Amino acid sequence: MVNFKDLGLVNTREMFAKAVDGGYAIPAFNFNNMEQLQAIIKACAETKSPVILQVSSGARKYANQTLLRYMAEGAVEYAKELGWEHPQICLHLDHGDTFELCKSCVDFGFSSVMIDGSSLPYEENIALTKKVVEYAHQFDVTVEAELGVLAGVEDDVVAEESHYTKPEEVIDFATRSGCDSLAISIGTSHGAYKFKPEQCTRDPKTGKLVPPPLAFDVLEEIEKKLPGFPIVLHGSSSVPQEYVDIINSHGGNLPDAVGIPEEQLRKAAKSAVCKINIDSDSRLAFTAAVRKVLVEKPGEFDPRKYCGPARDEMVRLYKHKIIEVLGSDGKAE
Ligand SMILES: [Zn+2]
Repeated sequence: MVNFKDLGLVNTREMFAKAVDGGYAIPAFNFNNMEQLQAIIKACAETKSPVILQVSSGARKYANQTLLRYMAEGAVEYAKELGWEHPQICLHLDHGDTFELCKSCVDFGFSSVMIDGSSLPYEENIALTKKVVEYAHQFDVTVEAELGVLAGVEDDVVAEESHYTKPEEVIDFATRSGCDSLAISIGTSHGAYKFKPEQCTRDPKTGKLVPPPLAFDVLEEIEKKLPGFPIVLHGSSSVPQEYVDIINSHGGNLPDAVGIPEEQLRKAAKSAVCKINIDSDSRLAFTAAVRKVLVEKPGEFDPRKYCGPARDEMVRLYKHKIIEVLGSDGKAE
C-alpha cells in the first residue's frame, strides 16, 4: 500500500474548489510515454498550472501501470528541478471500469480515480460508484463518476451514440454515489473524429467541417441543480487543423478529422466545468512533428531526432491550452 501523499501528489479536491471559484479549468492530459510526460510537466512548470496526469486502460496495457506510476512520482521531482516550487500534480485513473481496478490504483499511489459506470443501468452505476467512493475516501483519494454516454473511440471506450446527461438525475446521482466530480455528456466526444460529416455543416469559404455546438443549455441546467459541484468534460480535443494539414501533407491520411472548437471550451472552462480532458490533440502534435522530420530528413534514424521535436511541439500545445483555453496558468505557484 502506497499513499499518494508520500509521492508528493495531490488529489483533486482543492484543485477543483479553486477552479470552480476562479472560473477556470484544470487540464487533464493523458500520458503513455516519457516524452509526453516531460512535455506536460515542462508546460505546467513554465506556466505554474495545476495538472491532472491521466492513465487510461490503453496506457496501462502499452506502458505498464507500475512504470507509469513511478514516472508520475518522478514527474513531481522533475517539476521541482524545473523551478516549480509547489507542484500540484494529480495522478488519475481514466475510465476505470471495475472496482478491483480502481482499488488497485488507490493502493498503488494514485490520488484520484474515475469509475466509469456510464454504460450500466442507472442504479448499477450508482452502486458501483458508491463502492469505489467508500474505498477511495478512506485514503483521501477522490473519485470521478460519469453519467450520460459520450460517443467516439478512446482506447477501449467505444460508444456508437451519445446520450446527453439528464439534469433531473444529477442531484440523486451525486448524493447517493458520493462522487467528488461528475463527467457529463453535452456533445463532446472521444477521438479525432468527433462528428460524422453529416452531423456538421461545411464552411463555404474553406470547405472545412464545422461541428455542432455543445449543449450549453444542458450544462446550465446541471449547474443549477448542483451549484458549485465539479463537472468534467471528456473528449475535449480541438483537433487543430494545422496538425491535420501537416500530417496529411507528409504522407498521412486523416480526412475530415474534427474536434471541439476552442471558443466553446473556453466558455465551458468559465462555468462549473473544472476538468477538461485533452488527449487526441497531443497525439496529433506528436504525429505531425514526427512525420515532418521523417519526410524532410529521410536519412534520420535516431529516435531522439524526431521524438525531441515532437516533445517540443507538445510543450507548445499544452501551454497554449493552459493559457489560451483553460485559464489555469499561475494557479499553482
Ligand atoms: Zn474519456
